[in-house]
Amino acid sequence: MKHLLVVLLVLCAGLTHAAVKVVTTLPDLADLVRQVGGDRVTVDNIVRGDQNPHFVEVKPSYMMKLKSADLFFMIGMDLEMWAPQIIDGSRNTKVEVVDLSKHIMKLEVPAKLDASEGDVHKYGNPHYWLDPRNVRIMMGEIVAALARVSPGDEQYFRSNADAYLRTLDAKIAQWTAAMKPFAGAKVITFHKSWTYFASWLGLTVAGQVEPKPGIVPSPAHTAELITLVRQSGIKAIIVEPFYDLSAPNQIARSTGSKVIRLATSVGGADGTKDYISLMEHNIAHLAGALR
Ligand SMILES: [Zn+2]
Repeated sequence: MKHLLVVLLVLCAGLTHAAVKVVTTLPDLADLVRQVGGDRVTVDNIVRGDQNPHFVEVKPSYMMKLKSADLFFMIGMDLEMWAPQIIDGSRNTKVEVVDLSKHIMKLEVPAKLDASEGDVHKYGNPHYWLDPRNVRIMMGEIVAALARVSPGDEQYFRSNADAYLRTLDAKIAQWTAAMKPFAGAKVITFHKSWTYFASWLGLTVAGQVEPKPGIVPSPAHTAELITLVRQSGIKAIIVEPFYDLSAPNQIARSTGSKVIRLATSVGGADGTKDYISLMEHNIAHLAGALR
């Protein structure tokens, strides 16, 4: 009896296999990978939700995270200009780098490479994860990549993704309905983080507090925005958690419009513990300001 038990234990140990080791750049990607991978993945993440993803100071601990990873998921389109340094520094030659932008319909892609879109959107606008309809495309890539590492779990990954996408689709329907009364409304944003989000909801981004993506506000540009906000009766100035409020507050004081902090990533505002609660937060606050 004792021998049989030992044999069974050994057999069981042989059947359970190591979880797929994943590192993600953004916490939003970490959430999506967890939704798909369940207990068959371990996920580590690099950027905090209240950090500007364009500008991340590379630390040795990030290289350590990547050292034994199977997969490294990133947004791509040069959002993570700092990522190659982490990948090289990790000396992990077997990690597969998965650029989730591959099949995304990209917006604001310049006809030719120049500095007209500033320093940080050279390959087009990389903030596509804020249109929740793009999550289906991203999840397709996540399922495929996890299955390449662990082919036996493909069905498990696929059914988790399908269940998540059913929930997300129901949420998308609620969010679009909640925002329908504000279709066509004009907003100002600090950075061009909201291009995909606005295009999904039929909002018009009339201007940015930054003169160009990645360039700090200037008095002349802020004065122009004050005129624009007055003339167009713009009600909301959307500011990401990591930008300085002085220029937005100045515009709000001179015009009576409202500054609202919307989060671009999970953890960027209270209660944004996953992608769905992040979107809930943003929709509720924006609808409140536009009312
Ligand atoms: Zn950007």
